[in-house]
Amino acid sequence: ENWPEIKGNITFKNVSFSYKDGEKVLENFNLDVKAGQSIALVGETGSGKSTIVNLLCRFYEPVSGEILIDGVNYKERSQAWLQSNLGYVLQTPHLFSGTVKDNIRYGRLDASNEDIINAAKMVNAHDFIMKLENGYDTEVGEGGSRLSTGEKQLISFARAILADPRIFVLDEATSSVDTETEKIIQDAIQKVLKGRTSFIIAHRLSTIRSADRILVISDGKIIEDGNHAKL
Ligand code: ATP
Ligand code: MG
Repeated sequence: ENWPEIKGNITFKNVSFSYKDGEKVLENFNLDVKAGQSIALVGETGSGKSTIVNLLCRFYEPVSGEILIDGVNYKERSQAWLQSNLGYVLQTPHLFSGTVKDNIRYGRLDASNEDIINAAKMVNAHDFIMKLENGYDTEVGEGGSRLSTGEKQLISFARAILADPRIFVLDEATSSVDTETEKIIQDAIQKVLKGRTSFIIAHRLSTIRSADRILVISDGKIIEDGNHAKL
């Protein structure tokens, strides 16, 4: 992989955030992640894990404080820059209406059919795609409504693999898939993480164990920070 214009250092600096009219989910949240580190976020439901990664993906922006990528506030970057350098698979994956192929290709307009199929094979999505009415040319419907959550996650994952981003975010991507697919995804995750800065939210120990750092989140705060051997 070749990422000339990005290292992938990430800093949350005094980040506070609340959803519209809600209480503060994060208050003066600080986190420094070195380029290439893999971070696992664990913690109870509602503790703020998805909020942290949704802020990083800029689906929301901090109410106060800053998120820096390689020392630069991400608000100073274009959406296109972020899109090509940060890939994500979210808890509630969102596809756009269009074909399976369009959804995997996304910003990578230079990708060939073969590239797209290889990305799908890497996450074990190829077989289910071939069973759809028109294979890779099947329309997924508004927001992907004609697919299951697990299928949408697999397509999002194939998209992320194809995009080859420097920063990779995975929010419980294996929660809605079967055991066999999960194993294949675990292998794909290990490959994807190499050399990337990554944030993974998972409940399964196998995913968490291999992370460089495990952050335990409680009530919007980091209450433990270490690796598997230490915690
Ligand atoms: P889970 O393990 O269940 O996925 P989580 O750690 O990812 O939980 P978050 O989704 O970050 O938790 O939620 C943190 C807090 O923010 C919770 O109190 C939740 O109810 C609230 N919250 C999350 N998303 C929204 C939203 N879109 N609008 C309003 N409040 C929200
Ligand atoms: Mg969550």
